[in-house]
Parts: sequence; C-alpha cells; structure tokens
Amino acid sequence: MSEETGTPRTVSQTPAALLQRRLERLGLREPADFVVHLPLRYEDETRILPIGALAPGMTAQVQGDVLHSEVQFRPRRQLHAVLSDETGRLQLRWMNFYPSQQKQLAAGKPLRVRGEVRSGFNGLEMVHPKVGSAATPLPDALTPVYPTTDGLSQASLRKAVEQALATADLSDTLPEEVLRKYRLIPFDQAIRVLHHPPARVSYDELIERGHPAWVRIKFDELLAQQLSLAQARAARRAQKARPLVARDELLERLRASLPFRLTQAQERVVAEISADLGRAFPMHRLLQGDVGSGKTVVAAFAAAQAISAGSQVAIMAPTEILAEQHLHKLSAWLEPLGVCVAWLTGGLSGKLRRKAMQDIAEGRAQLIVGTQALIQDKVDFHSLGLVVLDEQHRFGVGQRLQLSRKGEAPAGTLLPHQLNMSATPIPRTLAMTFFADLDVSAIDALPPGRSPIITKLIADSRRAEVLDSVTAEVRQGRQAYWVCPLVEESEALQLQTAVDTHARLAEALPDLRVALIHGKMAPAAKQEVMQAFRDGRIDLLVATTVIEVGVDVPNASLMIIEHAERFGLAQLHQLRGRVGRGSTQSICVLMYQAPLSAIARQRLRAMYETVDGFEIARRDLEQRGPGEFLGVRQSGQALLRFASLDTDERLAAQAREAVALMRKAFPDHAEAHMRRWMRGKEDFLRS
Ligand code: ADP
Ligand code: MG
Repeated sequence: MSEETGTPRTVSQTPAALLQRRLERLGLREPADFVVHLPLRYEDETRILPIGALAPGMTAQVQGDVLHSEVQFRPRRQLHAVLSDETGRLQLRWMNFYPSQQKQLAAGKPLRVRGEVRSGFNGLEMVHPKVGSAATPLPDALTPVYPTTDGLSQASLRKAVEQALATADLSDTLPEEVLRKYRLIPFDQAIRVLHHPPARVSYDELIERGHPAWVRIKFDELLAQQLSLAQARAARRAQKARPLVARDELLERLRASLPFRLTQAQERVVAEISADLGRAFPMHRLLQGDVGSGKTVVAAFAAAQAISAGSQVAIMAPTEILAEQHLHKLSAWLEPLGVCVAWLTGGLSGKLRRKAMQDIAEGRAQLIVGTQALIQDKVDFHSLGLVVLDEQHRFGVGQRLQLSRKGEAPAGTLLPHQLNMSATPIPRTLAMTFFADLDVSAIDALPPGRSPIITKLIADSRRAEVLDSVTAEVRQGRQAYWVCPLVEESEALQLQTAVDTHARLAEALPDLRVALIHGKMAPAAKQEVMQAFRDGRIDLLVATTVIEVGVDVPNASLMIIEHAERFGLAQLHQLRGRVGRGSTQSICVLMYQAPLSAIARQRLRAMYETVDGFEIARRDLEQRGPGEFLGVRQSGQALLRFASLDTDERLAAQAREAVALMRKAFPDHAEAHMRRWMRGKEDFLRS
C-alpha cells in the first residue's frame, strides 16, 4: 500500500525505500546512528510465569491450554477465551479481532500469551494480549522497545538495529585511564547490553537507568556535550576581536549624569562585561536579570565603553515597541554626552532608511538601535565592536544562528563582542549544559524602593469590581494596562478581540482616556500611542501581548490580564513585570474563567505565590520540560537524550572534570568521541 492514499506507487515507494524514509525520520542513516538509538524500555519475554503467580498490574507472559473460547455479546461483541495451566486460570478478551484469531484460540491448543494483568469480572484477565505459539523457543535476551515513528514497527526497527550493529564501529572513544578513573565499562559492552540485555540483567536497573551500561552511555553523552562546549570556547578564544578600552571620560560622564546610582548587582555585572570587552577575543555573555532589574542601563555602560574605544554598537530588540523604548532611554542618557544615535527597523521609510544606512556605513552613527532588521538586512557597519541582543530568548534559534554565522569571517577578521540579555532566568545547570559557549552574569537584586507587586486572582464574573478598581487607580493619578485574551487559533480573531475589548472598556469607563495598542498597527501609530501613555495622556492602555517584553512606564501601577489561564507562566511573569516599576504599590489582577484545567490552576497558583523570576522559571521548567522552556522544541535533538540534569548531577560533574584530561592528553579520542555523539548537532551548538 502506498503511504499517501491515492498516490500511485512509484519507484521511491518500494518497501525498502519506505523503510529507509521512516528510519531517516528518526535520524537513522548510518550504522553509527543506530548504535546510539537506544531502547526506551524492555519487555521480558525470557520467562514464563505460572498463572497462579499473577497479580493485577503485572505485565507477564504465561503459557497454557485453551479451555474454551467463544464470541460473546455482552455488552458488545467480543472474543473471550480461558487459558489454564497447572496453577490456575486466566481470562482473555479481545474487543476487536479477526476470524483467524478465533481459530488460533480453538479449545485444547497450547498457547503463549503476554500482556497486562488486571482483575476482571471472573477473576484475573488480560485484554488484547499478544499471542504466540507455545512451541517457539524463549528468547535469551530482554526484548528492546525503541523510540519509533508512524508506520515503523518494533520488529522492523529491531531488525534494522541488528543489521547496523553487525557492521558498526563500536571501538571505545575513551582511553583506559578515563575508564578506570570513573569505573566505566567498555563502550561495546554497554551498547550490546542495552540493545540485547541478557536475561540475567536486572530489569529494574535497566529501566531506572542505573545499570553500568546506562551509566557509561550517560557519561559519554555528558562528556560529548562538555567537550563540544570546551571546543567552542577554545575556538572563540582563537578568534579576534578589537579590545574595547575606554579612551576618554564617557563612562564617568554617563555615571555622573544618571538620575540614580547603580545597585551593587549592576556594578558587578558592568565590571564583568567591561573586563570581557577589553579582551582581544569576542565576548559571548548572557546577562540575566529579572524583569525590572535594570538591564538596559547595564547595556548603556557596555555601549559607552565600546563607543569610547572608537567602535560602533548595535542594540537589537525583538519588537519595534521595545526597540523604540531603548532608543528613547539610550538617547536620553547618551546623546547629551555627545553620542550619535541612529534608528533602524524594518518599518523605516525609504529615505530615512538610506540616510541611516549611510550614517552607519560611514561611521557617523555610533549607537544603532533597532529590531531584527539589523541582522536580516545587509547593513554595512563601519566598525561594529559590540552587538547587544535584548530579550535574546525571543529571537528564534534561527536568528541566533544567523547572528553567530555572521562571525564566520576569514581567520584574523575582527569580530564584534556580543552581549545577550534575558529576563527569563535560566537555571544555571541548564545554561551550562545547553548554551554552547556562554558566560553568564546575573543581576540578582532589584533597584531599591520598589514595593512588591500584589497579585490577585479574580474570576471573570467579578468584572464590575475590576472596572471599579481601574477607575480608583486612575483617580489617584496612576495608569493601567488591560491585556486582552490570547486567541491562539487565529491572528484575525486575536485582533478582533483586542478591538472589541477596547470598545467595551471605553464604553464602560467613559471618564477615562482609553487607548488601544496591538501588533498590527503601523509602527508610527504604535509609537504615538506609547508616547502618549508615557506622557500620561492615556489612563488605560488596552493591549495585546505586544507589551509583553520590556515596556517600562513607572507610573503604570495596575495590570489586568484577561483570561490569564490562556497564558504561559513565563509570559504572565513578563506581563506582570510591566508594573511595579515605580515606588507605589502595584497590583496585578489575573482574571480567569472557571473551570480551570489542572495545569492552568498550577500556573496561576505559581503566579499568586511568588514574584521571584527564578522561582517562576524553576516551576515553568518543571511544568514544561527543558525543550519547550527554552523555545527549542524543534531542536529537540539538542536536549540530552539519556542523561538527566536532575538525577545525573554527579556524572555531569565527572564529565566536566574529564574534559581537560581528554583535550590535553587524548585529543584524538576526544575528536572521535564528539564525532560519535554530536552527529548533526554542530549548528545548534553555535547559537
Ligand atoms: P529590565 O531589566 O526589565 O530591562 P529596565 O532596564 O527597563 O529593566 O529597568 C527598569 C526600571 O528601573 C527603569 O525605569 C530604569 O530606569 C530603572 N532603574 C534601573 N536601574 C536602576 C537603579 N539602580 N536605581 C533606580 N532605578 C533604576
Ligand atoms: Mg528590558
């Protein structure tokens, strides 16, 4: 049968080609790929249990004679049989069956069945057990169950693995010394045990992955990751960047002109970045800091150092609104000190754009603020020394790659330093294992004088009270955000919802100045609304999630999020972070519609219980798993497949320790080890 119904069978759809395609879908091409395609679990078909030893919940294999079988109609048509051995009787039932199955179950036949035991109406039973002949010899190894894909049976996959193992290179990539030091078993032995566990192997150890074979594999995987990290780090240190050493008093003047003093945490990260910038190889640093912790001013210091050293700086944000806000802030801080700031986004008109491009190319523009346009378009910089990516997790993996590839210039070319900023705190172990080669700085305290945000959970039905609280807040001279419900299904619907919400609120609150902002508005219109809100000419800003990241209006002290149950935890935290930026008490109201799903309840509870970004991130990670958490679901391959950062902390530490020895004393082994484990991942590791 052809795979797509209706398409005639073509040459490429021979069974062999189909099999190959399906294997490729699993990333299985060469023998080496199959070697590390390891079972998810095992089935123990090596033993026959007496029926008398069965208990509900067990998965077991038994053998006996069919006492009788019949098709029953209660309540619906089903095939029923009774199997017996010397120790007892077992009921077998099938809801769907073929006539041939009925024959197989003719009374008096010896049969072997395997399945999950449950307690049924007439004693113990198996529903839809696997049936085989009692004459087949028992296998002497546990039967592996592999991760597979649609249309690929375990049997074909097992056969393919078997064939590949016969020719694959299983030589050890770890030297004796490392094996001995960490008490690891040889690679070929581990691989054979995992694909073919002998019957004597402890089933539990295999499943829990505590067996020495799994330990070896997990160590290998962690080591490969740490090796490639070290390699990327070494490669970066071999690249050249201009050391950015301040040549004038710009930094001191910036410090003196700020309306506030940097916090200790800010001073520390400014110093860390400053030291990196002074080096002759490119910085690659992640600046983490919770929403409102004051990352922008840290970026301003980095920029000032680069500019003082005679270089250009590009600062990029994922949305126009955010980029525009940076333009405001950075211009306000730096222009009075004589820095020339340019603005470049996708929405810029032809003439302005050409002018900006020219200023950038000829070096007049010293600080360039913009959106992704800065990477996507062919912008020709005169002397780019530093790139700052704000809210870097919002840029897709693809864009981050694009940016890092920009650096693939011929050897000896000067590359820019790079500073990534993110409000999504990435747990440290995750950052270390995940990000190829990234140094991390963290701002771990908020600027002084902020009072913590109060979070309230309010059911939709109490909307009138919420409207009253908006009016009350505005009467005190404050401003508020109203975030429209997220409609994931359709952008048009999302837009409509925003427009409707605005209309309803404007009607319900006739004394208030209510405005709307959403992602589909022209950049100029968006800018105008944001400016009006900043200037206090708007009381209530109805918004879609365009305001999610970065927006900073300290006088806004009330945030209402409608249908909060539809948002993710990180997103809610970001949204809430738009208030609590001034010295007054801020409130975030999470409106929800009952009934809540268990997950939504968990999320809202987390929001209610804590305002700490690290704690939120921890719970988010717990709820979503690392892939989705980092927005790299599509690159699942980059995740650890076998080791787990939670349970294999000790192994990870050993792997980190082994890196230096491998690189120094056994470079060929290290090379071979990475070849085995990092197949197809090279790109990801660079981003
Ligand atoms: P985020 O880290 O979320 O990007 P911002 O850089 O937007 O935070 O800073 C949040 C607010 O705090 C801004 O209004 C900023 O001017 C202010 N701010 C930053 N650092 C300090 C400080 N040391 N003291 C007082 N206010 C500060
Ligand atoms: Mg910010």
